[in-house]
Amino acid sequence: MIQTLILLSIAFCLICLVFLLPIITEFRRDRIRNKPFPPRWKFILRKNFLIYKSLPKNLQSRLKGHIQVFMAEKQFIGCDGLELNDDIKVTIAAIACLLLLNERGEYYPKLRSILVYPTAYMVTTRQAFGDYGIAESKEARLGESRSRDLVILSWEQIKYDLNHWQDGHNVILHEFAHQLDQEDGIANGVPILSKKQDYLNWAKFFTREYKQLIADVKNGQKTVMYSYATTNPAEFFAVATETFFEKPQEMEQNLTNIYNLLKNYYKLDPTGWF
Ligand SMILES: [Zn+2]
Repeated sequence: MIQTLILLSIAFCLICLVFLLPIITEFRRDRIRNKPFPPRWKFILRKNFLIYKSLPKNLQSRLKGHIQVFMAEKQFIGCDGLELNDDIKVTIAAIACLLLLNERGEYYPKLRSILVYPTAYMVTTRQAFGDYGIAESKEARLGESRSRDLVILSWEQIKYDLNHWQDGHNVILHEFAHQLDQEDGIANGVPILSKKQDYLNWAKFFTREYKQLIADVKNGQKTVMYSYATTNPAEFFAVATETFFEKPQEMEQNLTNIYNLLKNYYKLDPTGWF
């Protein structure tokens, strides 16, 4: 009898925890979002993140709230001797949080740490060949998103991207788009969407444009999205996100269906920001 009561009590506590945890998390985040935004961080936004000034006021304040939560919840780690400061952290948080303005209520739930290297970093890759062979090679990388809990970035590349907004390349947008894609456990170019119809539209238009881009690149045609997008559907979504925020007018004119899907997904229309 006592054992049954103990088991029932434990089960009751667990059920309470499951229901209460999201409420407690939202309450805590709400408190963080409502804290005054540090003036130093605002200075960094204006200095580094030029489109911040072009954002409508309501988006500016929503973004600032998200940056505060992101800064409180994610761990930043400087690698290869890079000393982290607010300049680096706030800049990364701001661009990452641009992708969260659609208010899905999540802050990259799987992501725990952001590793920042001063420049490109070397990675050893291993590839199997034949029955027993393993070929090892080293390659330089500027960023990557690991589905479990990690994003890796090069600060040198970030600084380059900040000075070349509108060239369609942005390592932070790229890697955090991968995080959104990986949220459901599969990196397939399809993030979590809100309606069944959205999945159908996504499958229809993304598949069509992905195939078209492969053909255009093969034929040597000039394309709005850069050719790395043809690697696989996951890269297509990551590059499409970069293009959406950096070359919105060009994308809207030439890749209207993809632009509209992303506009619906991110709940933003960057054509008015430039
Ligand atoms: Zn990628």
